[in-house]
Amino acid sequence: MRLRNITGSREVIADSRYVVKEEIQCGCPGRWREIFGNDSPIHIEIGMGKGKFIHTMAKEHPHINYVGIEKYSSVLLRAVRKMEQEELANLKFLRMDAEDIGKVFGAGEVGRIYLNFSDPWPKDRHAKRRLPSREFLARYAVILEQGGRLEFKTDNRDLFEFALGELEPAGWQADAVTYDLHSEESMAEGNVMTEYEEKFSGLGNPICKYVIHYGGPRP
Ligand code: SAM
Repeated sequence: MRLRNITGSREVIADSRYVVKEEIQCGCPGRWREIFGNDSPIHIEIGMGKGKFIHTMAKEHPHINYVGIEKYSSVLLRAVRKMEQEELANLKFLRMDAEDIGKVFGAGEVGRIYLNFSDPWPKDRHAKRRLPSREFLARYAVILEQGGRLEFKTDNRDLFEFALGELEPAGWQADAVTYDLHSEESMAEGNVMTEYEEKFSGLGNPICKYVIHYGGPRP
């Protein structure tokens, strides 16, 4: 998602108390408990867009701390505006490229990672940019706690097949896989819809989802 540049969005993001400041992001590993002021588990969404999913999750699960990560200020601005209307103590935002995720979370610091409707990057030469690629899975394996889970949803069948193919070479294993989330009761229970999920399921597209864990040697 790349919204038109919104004048002033960078300034709003830089001033917002909901967004962890860029200059202190590198000091974040090991300090999330201090940032939230409690010991609750930390769950993150990478590529959160306008933040509907993570805002709803944070509201429904007040004893989990959520961190929403988004690359573009113009998109993150929408999530910040939502927080201004309905502030949640257990939700913070990071404006960053997920490539640097290892600089912001320490080893085993994250309990759950959500990837929702990640950009497909259809050209082969851009495969490394896909958020469920083996390159990204290697980064997630470091920050995810032992027994932690990663959940990925998309309506893009090609991206989903690619993502499934990345698991074994990256040392990950699937706990659950569906090609039609909304008609599979056990997996759909408690499902929180994202903006893209509402849009594409509304068009009749089935939603694919996996839940995976890292099963390789601890990096
Ligand atoms: N998750 C939302 C949803 O399901 O409605 C938004 C999906 S949108 C297709 C993908 C989002 O991921 C965009 O907002 C994009 O800017 C963000 N994104 C893509 N690559 C990213 C990266 N490397 N780091 C952080 N955010 C990224």
